[in-house]
Amino acid sequence: MTSKNDIYFSKEHEQVRRAVRDFVNKEINPYMDEWEEKSEAPLHELFGKMGDLGFLGIRYDPKYGGQGLDYWYELVFLEEMAHVKGFGIPTAVGVQTHMATPALHDYGSDFLKETYLKPAIAGKMVSAIAVTEPGAGSDVSALKTTARKQGDHYVLNGSKIYITNGVQADFLTLLARTSDDPGYHSFSLLVVPTDIPGFSVSRKLDKLGLRSSDTAELFFDSMRIPAANVIGKEGEGFIYQMQQFQHERFVILPAAYIAARDMIDMTVEHLRQRMVFGKPLIKKQVLRHRLAGWLTEIECMRQLTYHIVQMKTAGLDATREISMGKVYAARLLRKVADGCLQMYGGLGFMNEMLISRYYRDARIMSIGGGADEVMQDVIAKLEGY
Ligand SMILES: Cc1cc2nc3c(=O)[nH]c(=O)nc-3n(C[C@H](O)[C@H](O)[C@H](O)COP(=O)(O)OP(=O)(O)OC[C@H]3O[C@@H](n4cnc5c(N)ncnc54)[C@H](O)[C@@H]3O)c2cc1C
Repeated sequence: MTSKNDIYFSKEHEQVRRAVRDFVNKEINPYMDEWEEKSEAPLHELFGKMGDLGFLGIRYDPKYGGQGLDYWYELVFLEEMAHVKGFGIPTAVGVQTHMATPALHDYGSDFLKETYLKPAIAGKMVSAIAVTEPGAGSDVSALKTTARKQGDHYVLNGSKIYITNGVQADFLTLLARTSDDPGYHSFSLLVVPTDIPGFSVSRKLDKLGLRSSDTAELFFDSMRIPAANVIGKEGEGFIYQMQQFQHERFVILPAAYIAARDMIDMTVEHLRQRMVFGKPLIKKQVLRHRLAGWLTEIECMRQLTYHIVQMKTAGLDATREISMGKVYAARLLRKVADGCLQMYGGLGFMNEMLISRYYRDARIMSIGGGADEVMQDVIAKLEGY
């Protein structure tokens, strides 16, 4: 019998799904409590295992170790990663696959791809994306870190904040100002190896959620970066980063409809056995209707995501749809996490309960990678308002 999944996914897609699911169940979920407690996961070890299985370069060029597969395989991977119990590890992995490497793959020289993309796909190097600064978050163009050309090097000075994987990264994909001219053509994306003198992790940051992913403040003191480490053309970094953001923002869409469903499933189990006023809580129509409302939104979220995959497969620009999807996904996750916690009662407020982790982790989704308001600005602008 044909299942709903068969409309979109082939047997081969399902094989990949099973492989990722097995990995999540065996190599990630059993360690989540420990990594949350430590506020860090062993990324070199974890990425090494994922690289061996071909998970870190699903869409990337086989010449550099990628699988060369289509957007549907990538979606299968993201859907299964969303079954991780908490968003810390999917975020750390997403940085490696969808935030720090897309521009390197699309615009990097052969030298850069051999030296950095290949080991990132193999899981031998950990990467981070370094855009945000203390004075420049939503307004990326306000960044002050400079890379000044001196012969065959750039001299890098400045700092970056809230950098995921920043404590463990072997290289950063970093956006810096390479010219003082106004406008968007004064920035460049550089690959910054963290073993060059002048690099330091000034602070490992203590966070409300995503505790299993490390987040750092970084400092650059006259680091000498080889000129060959510029991705694509000097001065085009801002444009590349705006494109790279589309991959980053897309990741949250499947995370939303999968993790929200997981939260609901686990909450329903609780509602079935929790007796209140002499009956299981699931018998309360107000709660059943609330659950049905969320399931409806989850289905909308899934269908928008599949539509975006079709657009991307057809080579269409999906900036408008991805921006809409990011706002919707973030709000859906926050709403479902909050609503499920409410249904658990006092138990849901206990740190030992997974729902409390989802509740803490979901909060960042409306802020990171472009806050809701920034996404709405993009949508309004594209509509000509
Ligand atoms: C856990 C975590 C991980 C992160 N990982 C990374 C990373 O790996 N690499 C990286 O470069 N950055 C990372 N960030 C940074 C993140 O992308 C920024 O925090 C985000 O872009 C918002 O920037 P900001 O914090 O400077 O907020 P601000 O720019 O100061 O904005 C504050 C608030 O103002 C509102 N706002 C902003 N713009 C508008 C507008 N146009 N209209 C109306 N309201 C608006 C929004 O509600 C926003 O939340 C991370 C952040 C966190 C917390």
